[in-house]
Amino acid sequence: MELKRTIKFEADRDPEFARWISHTVGGERIRHCLQCGLCSASCPLSLYMDYTPRRLMHLSREGFKEEVLSSSSIWLCTACYACMVECPKKINITHLMYALKQRAIEERFYPKRFPIPVMAQQFSRMVRDSGRITESWLILRVFLRTAIWRLLGMSGLGWKLFIAGRMTVKKEKVERRAEIRTLLDSVAATRKELAL
Ligand code: SF4
Ligand code: SF4
Repeated sequence: MELKRTIKFEADRDPEFARWISHTVGGERIRHCLQCGLCSASCPLSLYMDYTPRRLMHLSREGFKEEVLSSSSIWLCTACYACMVECPKKINITHLMYALKQRAIEERFYPKRFPIPVMAQQFSRMVRDSGRITESWLILRVFLRTAIWRLLGMSGLGWKLFIAGRMTVKKEKVERRAEIRTLLDSVAATRKELAL
């Protein structure tokens, strides 16, 4: 992917976003970033990113919200932790990538029918409702929202998996689901408090 090289202006900054970044989980140490580039050098996906991890750290702490939240980099991150291992300033880059994904989902900063955020949303909804996911239903929900026509092409494979007992249509649930919901709510409330 071609790297974006556009001139940034002071007026394009969003100070609230910069403040949020340094208070959110993962961003606590972002202002210590040296811009050494070790994160980009160690990232196996940086070659395909529009902004390398080093550039993303810089744009984030300066408050260039639109560039950061609409970047493909946050969705390409596979949470391998290589960047965090190498970072001399112990910046929690991987955790910050998660926080950026979450904010991009909340503010709908992604292309229509882009499957990764849809998958993340449906995954968390299923965990909230049932305490765990059922893969067949998760796949169905994602394809219905992103590429319904591809479902037809995959029906043969789905049937084979079903016959082989590798796919179930029965929704799986755990007990004490209310406790899981309470736990998730308290995590969300803590996140909000940290961001205030
Ligand atoms: S490795 Fe750490 S200090 Fe170096 S550019 Fe990346 S985030 Fe900044
Ligand atoms: S955690 Fe993400 S950003 Fe860091 S090296 Fe792995 S893929 Fe790259």
